[in-house]
Amino acid sequence: MAKIQAPVKKDEMLDVHIEDLTHDGNGVAKVKGYPLFIPHVLPGEKAQVKVAKLNKGYGFAQLVQLIEKSINREDPPCLIYDECGGCQLQHLSYEGQLKAKGKHVHDVIQRIGKIEDVKIHPVLGMEDPWRYRNKAQVPVGEREGGLVAGFYQKRSHEIIDMESCLIQQEKSDEVIQVVKEICNRYGVKPYEEGKNKGTLRHIMARYGHQTGEIMVVFITRTEDIPHKKKMIQEITERIQGVTSIIQNINSKKTNVILGEKTKVLWGQDVIYDYIGNVKFAISAQSFYQVNPKQTKVLYEKALEYAELNGEETVIDAYCGIGTISLFLAQQAKKVYGVEIVPEAIEDARRNAQLNQITNVEFAVGQAETVIPKWYEQGIHADVFIVDPPRKGCDEALLQTILQMKPKKVVYVSCNPATLARDLRILEDGGYKTKEIQPVDMFPMTMHVECVALMTRVEK
Ligand code: SAH
Repeated sequence: MAKIQAPVKKDEMLDVHIEDLTHDGNGVAKVKGYPLFIPHVLPGEKAQVKVAKLNKGYGFAQLVQLIEKSINREDPPCLIYDECGGCQLQHLSYEGQLKAKGKHVHDVIQRIGKIEDVKIHPVLGMEDPWRYRNKAQVPVGEREGGLVAGFYQKRSHEIIDMESCLIQQEKSDEVIQVVKEICNRYGVKPYEEGKNKGTLRHIMARYGHQTGEIMVVFITRTEDIPHKKKMIQEITERIQGVTSIIQNINSKKTNVILGEKTKVLWGQDVIYDYIGNVKFAISAQSFYQVNPKQTKVLYEKALEYAELNGEETVIDAYCGIGTISLFLAQQAKKVYGVEIVPEAIEDARRNAQLNQITNVEFAVGQAETVIPKWYEQGIHADVFIVDPPRKGCDEALLQTILQMKPKKVVYVSCNPATLARDLRILEDGGYKTKEIQPVDMFPMTMHVECVALMTRVEK
């Protein structure tokens, strides 16, 4: 083991100034240059802390008491904020959250991307930053003989009951409460993680923001659900808007929520929703953006940056169920989408049909292997969209972009650090980052989404 070189000792009490927030919402204080990460404190605050853990280049401390409070500090309205861990920023005003996210984007674009002269716009936030999530997914357990459903207590597998989650749509709260009550009354046995016994693992509720349609999903270990018929009848009678009741079976001893088998118990196999004027079918397993209002803001920005006039060929790498592809297809000559998950591509094709959009083509596979083949076949994009997962784009894909030389690259990113890394590679290959628009898709958490516009400077 390397020797720990810290100017503080474990359990030492210190008064510190909080200078910054990390990308996961911890405050940062520096003691003789050695960073200490401290949960629940904010930049500008002075706090008494107790050193908890020391690593080679950094350590962790716990808040003992606040000495000076930030003017941006607020009382978290959620009663279970400290126990749950689903949100990290409820103690910071929303304005403060947007500033912190904006600063984080600036910092990494400069530090990792080494890009100085780019316009980074202020973060586009929500008018009302609560109740935005359209999907709730709660684990089910047992307490004092009754069924509970809510969340895992921080750093444990203990399930705590939850009546309300302030970042979920109200309707989801209602669905979860009613389904929980019905399951309890009919004696449905909660899943026991350690023994891999019992029936009900998770309850999921999905909500179509524009249509009001609701999907209820029972995620069970067993095929059989006792009193299924009566429970379904009660759900449809008591919850307005339910159009789909689904069972997903996951018999494995695993942390993965959904299993492979899905059955329709009642109604349709999908619910519908719109982003702008494009209609989407959403199944129990589909990936669909969780904040519908801000998704529209994000996609409109991507569309604006793409500046389409109907003549362009567009490639949408990492296309998921084709949301961006279909949104852009209305103003492009042709859109090609590629995505690694086969079911997502099935959804994408179905969504194209649903909207009678015929100028799109979808392929299953890795973006970094499919797109080079397209290139060899003579498919060249004028506008290249990427929307990769947190780890960013594969290097081989970036090299293909540099060979293909599209006029524009529109980079949609959920991780500013990998965005910065990839923008650097594209800048070194002849592109210039024109502007970056961060969008707040996940209020109360540290996550921030960005859209970046790059144009080609070399021939
Ligand atoms: N653009 C979509 C989805 C973005 S999420 C939307 O806005 O809804 C990123 C997507 O990339 C996921 O659907 C994931 O399955 C997919 N993915 C991950 N690695 C990939 C790869 N190497 N090639 C293609 N797609 C990939």
